[in-house]
Amino acid sequence: MKIVQMSDALANKIAAGEVVERPASVVKELVENSIDANSTWIKVDIKEAGLEEIKVTDNGEGMSEADAERAFLPHATSKIRNESDLFHVKTLGFRGEALASIASVSKLSVQTSEGDKAGIQLILEGGKKIDKKKSDARKGTEITVNDLFFNTPARLKYMKSLHTELGHITDLLNRLALSHPNIRFEATHNGKGLFKTAGTGDLLQVISQVYGMNVAKNMLMVQEENLDFHIEGFIAKPEITRASRNYISTMINGRYIKSIPLNQAIIRGYHTLLPIGRSPIVVLSITMDPILVDVNVHPTKLEVRFSKDKELFTQLEELIRHKFREITLIPEMTETQKPKPKEKSYQHSMDFSSSASMPKFNDSVRENITNWQKPTEDEEVTLKDNITPSTSYSQQEETLSTYEINEDEDGIKSDDTTDEIVFENVSQQRVPMMYPIGQLQGTYILAQNENGLYMIDQHAAQERIKYEFFRDKLGKPTNELQELLLPMTFEFSKQESLFIEQYKEEIEKVGIFFEAFGNQTYIIRSHPNWFPNGFEEEVIREMIEQIMNEEKINVESIREDAAILMSCKRSIKANHYLNQDEMFRLLEDLRSTTDPFTCPHGRPIIVHFSTYELEKMFKRVM
Ligand code: ADP
Ligand code: MG
Repeated sequence: MKIVQMSDALANKIAAGEVVERPASVVKELVENSIDANSTWIKVDIKEAGLEEIKVTDNGEGMSEADAERAFLPHATSKIRNESDLFHVKTLGFRGEALASIASVSKLSVQTSEGDKAGIQLILEGGKKIDKKKSDARKGTEITVNDLFFNTPARLKYMKSLHTELGHITDLLNRLALSHPNIRFEATHNGKGLFKTAGTGDLLQVISQVYGMNVAKNMLMVQEENLDFHIEGFIAKPEITRASRNYISTMINGRYIKSIPLNQAIIRGYHTLLPIGRSPIVVLSITMDPILVDVNVHPTKLEVRFSKDKELFTQLEELIRHKFREITLIPEMTETQKPKPKEKSYQHSMDFSSSASMPKFNDSVRENITNWQKPTEDEEVTLKDNITPSTSYSQQEETLSTYEINEDEDGIKSDDTTDEIVFENVSQQRVPMMYPIGQLQGTYILAQNENGLYMIDQHAAQERIKYEFFRDKLGKPTNELQELLLPMTFEFSKQESLFIEQYKEEIEKVGIFFEAFGNQTYIIRSHPNWFPNGFEEEVIREMIEQIMNEEKINVESIREDAAILMSCKRSIKANHYLNQDEMFRLLEDLRSTTDPFTCPHGRPIIVHFSTYELEKMFKRVM
């Protein structure tokens, strides 16, 4: 006989290989059990990144003596009874294998009581019960896991450094706290406080406890409900970004999940507002009928499958996109942005004030072109007078320049009738010599040559010019340090500060010397000379993120990102008056760049109306 059935002990050890990958997996399973037991307070005490001890204490329902014994049998669960329950899972656990698996690779003690009488304590070693005693009657459960992987040395060998393992644990606790703002979490490592949440149900407060005050201050609330989904949470303004997607937390029915398409939908929602290679900070909780989600597709249930995924993704994307339109667009413009019905226009089109007459222009652009053309009866008016931006835009400097792409898109995407003006993208060829006519809305330079009319987004153009300038400049750095008159102070998340401690040497190699200042706060008294002025903080934060993701610092890519940042922030904003000379110089500088057609964020810089198109538009040619 070759085939024999495995003993339970062996089967559990094999199952443990799937569920219990590292100390953080044990923390996950134990804390999720506490959540499932309706706890309102959960305390996690860790020693030596969990390899020595993981203790999870809760004030949940507790177990009876008989249940406590059964809990460690393979496939023992109180959460589902039959197949149909599997499709309506509301709890985080349901497979009934975690406790058996964890117990099989550790020395474990469980103490539990339902609160009405004395509780019970069980002691197990490698999954075998070795002791049982009465314990106190405090309602709730405390599970202590010691010497994890003591009997599976191969697994122990694969553990990374203590810092990395502790990093995984804090990351996990952060997500659990973010998914359960109603639960008060407390965590310690080697007796020192790791983090604490208040459990008041206020998600923004948890965000501030996890990511710091500054992030919390820059979050926008989103909420939406339809027949299938309820979406609720916070999205960071696009000026606060991170280099990795690790800062997007999504919860489905209270379960933290990882879904690449879901993250992509969120990023699409931000549209072009995010600089290239940057990711937002997002915490979103999605609730839906459990029948729409299959949580049984992944060993640690990190991945799930939805049956209405397309609908969910579209809805998420739209929700985020709308939120930004809501806060960035000025009301007068939104009115004119509504798509107009298809209409053959030129027959009745000498009346420029009637909307719908120039199909391919975005209406707000059309109106301003109109304003710009109107004074032609009066040849004496100077350019400046004609084209001074209307005052209602003046406070929108920043937002206009950052978000204008939304309008472009609406404009470009309109209907496809034969008479339309085509926004020709002048890529492929270099920018020809052109001469400024004037400035539109203080935002676009209008220029001409024998080929027709050009509109140039002045902010995007300057971004491109500066970007190429800074890229060259930052590309030749020295190793010198610049002493600071005043030290700079940084507040980091717990996880970030763990990585800072672990990678101190690498960080010092690039010239940053952090001095711990308590409470995840650090100061530096100098920084490398090449650091762009005014962007020190961004560059340093990016380095820390890189360390967390790649375990090394790539100075090259940091310089590239810094160049993008600097070019963006240092460029003239929309709504800034330029005289004829300045316009001419800007156009010349643009022509000398290596890639004059898109800004570093990938948005177009120039649109072109050929002479032929202009003539067609005015029915001079057919
Ligand atoms: P699952 O969570 O998939 O049901 P587990 O092996 O994680 O399986 O747990 C087995 C059972 O032990 C649970 O179904 C639950 O009834 C009980 N249990 C585990 N942890 C706790 C806890 N902290 N409080 C109360 N009951 C618990
Ligand atoms: Mg469980």
